Order: sequence, then C-alpha cells, then structure tokens
Amino acid sequence: MGLTKKIIIALILGVAVGLGFNLFAPGAFGPLDSYVLTPLGQIFLKLITMLVVPLVFFSIVLGTAGMSDTKKLGRIGIKTVGFYLLSTVVALCIAFGVALTIQPGQEGLMGTEEANFEATEPPPVMETLLNIIPTNPIDALATGQMLQIIFFAIFIGFALAHLGEKTKGIHKLIEQGNEIMMFLVTIAMKLAPYGAFGLIASAIGKLGLDALSSMAMYMLCVVLALILHVALVYSGVVYALGKMSPLHFFKNFAPAMTVAFSTSSSNATLPLSMKTAQEKLGVSKPISGFVQPLGATINMDGTAIMQAVATVFIAQVFAEPLSVGALVTVVLTATLASIGTAGVPGVGMIMLAMVLQSVGLPVEGIALVLAVDRILDMLRTSVNITGDAACAVFIERSEGGKEKVETV
Ligand code: ASP
Repeated sequence: MGLTKKIIIALILGVAVGLGFNLFAPGAFGPLDSYVLTPLGQIFLKLITMLVVPLVFFSIVLGTAGMSDTKKLGRIGIKTVGFYLLSTVVALCIAFGVALTIQPGQEGLMGTEEANFEATEPPPVMETLLNIIPTNPIDALATGQMLQIIFFAIFIGFALAHLGEKTKGIHKLIEQGNEIMMFLVTIAMKLAPYGAFGLIASAIGKLGLDALSSMAMYMLCVVLALILHVALVYSGVVYALGKMSPLHFFKNFAPAMTVAFSTSSSNATLPLSMKTAQEKLGVSKPISGFVQPLGATINMDGTAIMQAVATVFIAQVFAEPLSVGALVTVVLTATLASIGTAGVPGVGMIMLAMVLQSVGLPVEGIALVLAVDRILDMLRTSVNITGDAACAVFIERSEGGKEKVETV
C-alpha cells in the first residue's frame, strides 16, 4: 500500500478514536493522550524536524552553487519571491471574496465580553527584514533561525560556485551530507502513518464536536477559500506555467500534503516535500533546494487565507465595519506577515494579532477563533507547502527543465 493511502487510513482511524473517546469515554482520553497519542505524534514530528536544519542548509548551498552564473541566481530569486508575494495577495483576495459573501460572523453571534487573549507582541516588519542577516551563523543554525540560515547558505553556495575547483572538497562534503539527510527522510517517513494517527486523534479528542459545530460558518469560509485557491491558482499555475497536468501534480504530491496536514508544520514537512518534488515532479535538485526551503519560510498562502477570513469574522462579531482601505491594509500586512511567519504549528495565529492591530480591530477577537485553529492549521499548512511545490514546478519549467515529467 502506498504512503498516502496509509496516512489517509491512519488519519481516518485517528479521527474515529479521538471523537469516540471525546464522546463516550472522556475520562479515559487524558491518559490515552498523554501516554500513547501525543508521544506517538511527537516521535514522528521530532524525527523529521531533526533533519530540517541540516537539510535546509545543505540544499540551499547546493542549490545556489548549482546556479553557477549570478544572473541565473538573481533571475530565479526574483521570480520565486515575486511568485510568492503575488500568490499570497491572490489568496487574500479569494479569502475576502468568500468571507464577505458568506458573512460568517454576525453581531451578537457569540459573547465578546469573555473573549480574552494575551497577544504576543509580533516583531516589527523592519526588524524581521534586518534580522535576515545573521550576526552569528552558528547561532542561527543552532537555534533554527530559518531566514538567517537561508541567507547564510546562499552566501556559502555563491562562494562555492565562484571558487570552483578550490573548494571542491567542501562542495562534495555538502553533497554527501545532503544525500544522508534525504536517506534519513525515507526512514523517518516509515513512521508517518503512526505519527499522523497520534497527532489527529490527540487534536480531535481535545476539541470535540461542540467546538467544531459552533464555528461551522467560519471554518466553512476558510476551507472554501483554501479549496478555491488550490483548485484555481495552483492548478492554473501548474497547468499554464509548469506545463504539467494538475492531476499528475496533486496525485504525486499527495504524500507531502498529508504529512503537512498531520504535522501542521511546513518546516517539518520540508524534507518530504523536497524529496517528492525532486523524485515525482521532475524538479531539479538545485531549483527544489532553493525554491522550497525559501517557500516553507516565507510563503504562507493558507495562513494568509485564515487571517483574512478571521479578520472579517472578528470585525463582524464585534460589529466593526471594514472599509476598502482597511482591506488593502490587511492585504499588505498579511503578505508581509507571511514572510515573518515561521513554518511551525500555530504561528499564523500570533501573526493574526499584527493583522488585526493594523486595522484597529480588538486583538481579543483571536480568542474566538482559537479553539478550532488546530484543525484549520492542518489544512492551511497543506496549502502552504503545495504553493511552494507549484512554484518549484513553474520555475523548473521556466528555466527550461528538461526532465521527463508527464506533461499535459
Ligand atoms: N503551521 C503553519 C505552517 O507551518 C503556519 C501557521 O499558519 O501557523 O506553515
């Protein structure tokens, strides 16, 4: 049985077990969660997260070194960042379209008096941008500062490309390091179905049906906007720019999407999403190694969609009108916020505080959407990494990638 099938079966079983305990044996859920479900999920999550920092470093160095002329590197860099920013703006527009049509939150829908949320201060945008340059790269690697690691790795790759023969040894060493990491991904993935089962059963068991049903309209809007974005934008990009059948794309990328769903972390899924793009979608190693780690760190279309819908929802519940100017402000802030959002669970919610503040909405509103965020985080993370893969396919094709892939 293929990996995707196994993970999907594990997810279905996990939902059944989580709901079953929540409804019929809530007392037994606590110990089951602490001793079985959470450890099962965490073992898998930690194993793949363990590979992320070395893998990102090695693959970006190799990706950059593989683009020996600076012009090519600059061109790919501009195309990639341009694609990421533009796709996030489109995602936000779709989310606004859906939320303003469906109107998920009416005034008085829920008591706003008890809404209580301590916002963690998100870093100012300028600081995030300046922080991309690490003062100490070893510290960046040790503490997993993704943007700093990417920046440093690009520089090292650039130097390797420039110095050529002189640094052949280190180049080879990094290549071999990359091989080792990719091999370990294959081993860690054997645990994916068990991890997925533990993670979803734990999440659903804690949440229960009641919380889900009271937020049905909000969730519906987020899910609808996510589906529209994937079906229209990613399919369109893959088809028109990547010259690949969307069916082929989604079928082959599905294992990575299910793992992103289970882990709610773009970073943790990165090793698998790169491996899948390279082996199943015909994206060359240098392009995948450059485009996908960058995307996992700065491109969060799914997260932006949640933020736009949540903004409309909170504005409606608090009966605060949103002007067109406010919508434009949200588009700008949410696009910038996605650069600073780390690809780990739940960060999108922290950045939502910044988005709400930018248009003067009460940050306490976050308390209203927090309960169901675990589930939406799973969905939007799948979308986040799919956007990175669609971009990788597009860049590969636009750079004249010759690998044989099933074309339209
Ligand atoms: N969990 C998301 C990701 O990794 C980020 C977020 O929206 O919280 O991509």
